[in-house]
Amino acid sequence: MEETVLVLNAGSSSFKFQLFTIENATPQRKLRGQIEGIGVNPRMIAKDAEGTPLVERSFSPAEVANLPAAMEILRSWLDETLDGVLPSAVGHRVVHGGPSFDQPVLIDDEKISNLERYVPLAPLHQPNNLAPIKAIRELLPDMPQVACFDTAFHRNHSELADRYAIPDRLYEEGIRRYGFHGLSYEYIAGTLPKLAPEIANGRVIVAHLGSGASLCALHRGNSVDSTMGFTALDGLPMGTRPGQLDPGVVLYLISHKGMSVGEVERLLYQDCGLKGLSGISNDIRNLLASDDRRARLAIDYFVSRAAKETGALTAVLGGLDALVFTAGIGENAPEVRRGICDKLTWLGVALDEDANTRNLEQISPEGSSPAVYVIPTDEEWMIATHVLKLLAKSTVGG
Ligand code: ADP
Repeated sequence: MEETVLVLNAGSSSFKFQLFTIENATPQRKLRGQIEGIGVNPRMIAKDAEGTPLVERSFSPAEVANLPAAMEILRSWLDETLDGVLPSAVGHRVVHGGPSFDQPVLIDDEKISNLERYVPLAPLHQPNNLAPIKAIRELLPDMPQVACFDTAFHRNHSELADRYAIPDRLYEEGIRRYGFHGLSYEYIAGTLPKLAPEIANGRVIVAHLGSGASLCALHRGNSVDSTMGFTALDGLPMGTRPGQLDPGVVLYLISHKGMSVGEVERLLYQDCGLKGLSGISNDIRNLLASDDRRARLAIDYFVSRAAKETGALTAVLGGLDALVFTAGIGENAPEVRRGICDKLTWLGVALDEDANTRNLEQISPEGSSPAVYVIPTDEEWMIATHVLKLLAKSTVGG
């Protein structure tokens, strides 16, 4: 049986997994799947690398009431699918690495308790990210596990980009602009040099536009700033999150409307963004297909904020050599890309309409600057790559 690396991404209502084989020390995708609708309408799907379905199964809410139940279903399915052969290692997506984790780490008990400290900084994500790590550690204490952080790629930001204008003691306590989607940005930063080496060495803004959305400013392939801050709520509007919001709104909701912290948290994570603005859907495909005025407003708002923040990050970089679109919306929605680029013509941004409509890799005319690209991201491949690198290092280092 071939050697494999399992990659897990445990969210609040879904549990995603991918399995990679190892060829020439590089991960090759073998299968991917997820258990979604945990506790509500649970469904497991998995497909092989060519997209052929391997399993599609629905469960009652009682059968998959929570993440541990979903983990057990995945464990037994993998056991059967891999004929009882265990993966060589497991890589995990962990949303928060706090101020100190600036690269992936091999898990041990001390690392787990360190990472528990960041639960208050990502209350909806961190506990779910840590649950499979702890469960596997208990069941298979010798299984190498690697935690890869969404914050790590941004850890070399200057103090100017890392701080809020709040007292020092709060900064020391960890109230900082961490930035997220780091695994996606790291993947793009690693891919761009193969496409355009000179540009990759310059000033690039990457727009990760998915159900979560942010922008990252790259200089020479390193992150120098991002639109996201302390939590994954800041910056651009998203599917269900508002993005940048005057903190006075939160104070008002609590003090004048009498909302509890939990209610405000639910509002900000689940009922705002495209969903809140349109009152129709958090999925931009539904909004693009609608002729409702509110759907148009939500799209216009999303486009306008993305263009505005691109302008802000261009000022941080002192110019722009390339703009890269990625993630669900960035890779698949020509209309949204066109809207953003149209608002950036003052910067020299131009679009090749045909290339944009066809979602091609380069969507700006040859020779125009800044260049505009569409590059599909692959966070799970990035995690599998980190796992292999760390394992090679720990073998060499003993
Ligand atoms: P995440 O991994 O954060 O869940 P994705 O990067 O997969 O998010 O992006 C999901 C979003 O991408 C969807 O909510 C949808 O709005 C958008 N999307 C996906 N496919 C398309 C498409 N073909 N056209 C337009 N938007 C799309």
